[in-house]
Amino acid sequence: MKRVMVVGGGLAGLAAAYEARQRGAEVTLLEKERLGGKVRTIREDGFVIETGPDAVVRYKPWALALARELGLEASIVGTLPSRPAAYIRVRGRNHELPEGLNVVIPSKLGPLARTSLFSPLGKFRAALDLFLPRGPEGDEAFGRFIRRRLGAEVWENLAAPLTGGIYGGDPENLSLLAAFPMLKELERKHRSLILGSLAAMKKRKTSREGGSLFASFTGGQAQLVDALVAHLNGSLRVGETATAIEPAGGGWRIESDKAEYEAEVLVLALPAPAAADLLEPLGFAATNELRAIPYHSAATVTLAFDKSSFPERRGHGVLFARSEGFHARGFTWLDQKWPHRAPEGIALCRAYFSGSEADAGEEKLLEAALADLERLLGVKAAPERVWIDHFPRGMPAYTVGHLDRLRAIEAAEKELAGLALVGAAYRGVGIPEVIRDGRRAVSELLEG
Ligand SMILES: Cc1cc2nc3c(=O)[nH]c(=O)nc-3n(C[C@H](O)[C@H](O)[C@H](O)COP(=O)(O)OP(=O)(O)OC[C@H]3O[C@@H](n4cnc5c(N)ncnc54)[C@H](O)[C@@H]3O)c2cc1C
Repeated sequence: MKRVMVVGGGLAGLAAAYEARQRGAEVTLLEKERLGGKVRTIREDGFVIETGPDAVVRYKPWALALARELGLEASIVGTLPSRPAAYIRVRGRNHELPEGLNVVIPSKLGPLARTSLFSPLGKFRAALDLFLPRGPEGDEAFGRFIRRRLGAEVWENLAAPLTGGIYGGDPENLSLLAAFPMLKELERKHRSLILGSLAAMKKRKTSREGGSLFASFTGGQAQLVDALVAHLNGSLRVGETATAIEPAGGGWRIESDKAEYEAEVLVLALPAPAAADLLEPLGFAATNELRAIPYHSAATVTLAFDKSSFPERRGHGVLFARSEGFHARGFTWLDQKWPHRAPEGIALCRAYFSGSEADAGEEKLLEAALADLERLLGVKAAPERVWIDHFPRGMPAYTVGHLDRLRAIEAAEKELAGLALVGAAYRGVGIPEVIRDGRRAVSELLEG
């Protein structure tokens, strides 16, 4: 029986360990802090609070497929239907998100023509996408790409706030090929992003407005973690940090702060800097590339208010254009987005902070969230409960050049037999992608 060692107990590591178990390997997983990693659901007094990720997109099927394998089908929930799903704050007022967005691209001309997000000139410029020729081959900064195809207004008032709310950091320099390969593909295949999106959306049956684009579990994202933990009973060593690794006898020797292990297969399911710390002493050829993946911080402030004295909110939330000068990237109205996240009569609001704003410290984050809320809703309300979470350098950014860095990392990885690097740093930052990554790597190593 092959022995598999997984270092890191976020969803990438848990999925890798699960796959190893399914394939009959003997698996051990070391996690230094808490199982689930960035997934942090707090369940208390009738609240289900996600201080970390709160949704998986359905059209990336790997998280929900794993959930079904683990018997969680009945616990999968969709968002509450809402038309429009969300708003964007531009020029001092909330504008409905146009219907039928393909990632960030308007796929219907009707809603594009009607939206108040763009000026008439901005709409005209966006429609030029229908006629513009294809751009150059190769990678490109996401901001430049959107402006080239659809104009500055679509970038500033729609694409930047939307992607800043998902990826955090500065979306301008995200790599088109690494973060949005499907948009490059649309241009390659259809030339026009709008025409290509129209075709893509016809095939895809989920939409933001229909409430079926995003999914979670009745008990929050941690329900998936709990099911994996139950399945991996006996294999998990929590509170144990891997401190050194070295190739040994065709496999690996792993040292932790508590013990020593040997395994034929070693999966590092860690943030890139932590993987670099373990690999650097071995002379790993792509240590610099690992360290060159930029990370930025994120933070969330979740506030529970008495609904009876709280202003009406519409949709699932609001995102802010940077020009509006809010501290947060946006607010999610959790009680309106998901069923049963708070007791009756509670308005549950979550502010999302990214970059340097996220590192301000708990007191300042709370002040900033309340100030933003007051400015947005015109009300000074005292929350009944508050949950604050901080993810220092917690989000990798796939900036231009990411695919070159990844190629170098993969080449160096191949030099070391029985090693895999998986997780959010590499082939997709979302929960579905890290699950796919962990399972794929283990299948390849155990089959090969
Ligand atoms: C605020 C926030 C909101 C998000 N929202 C969404 C969302 O809505 N939908 C979505 O799909 N994605 C979302 N994401 C992204 C997603 O949550 C993460 O990318 C994903 O959970 C990362 O999983 P991972 O296993 O790669 O890494 P992690 O979860 O970071 O796990 C790595 C683990 O390795 C452990 N570790 C580190 N060093 C060592 C060591 N030496 N020895 C042992 N263990 C070690 C760490 O303690 C950690 O538990 C969000 C992220 C954040 C921060």
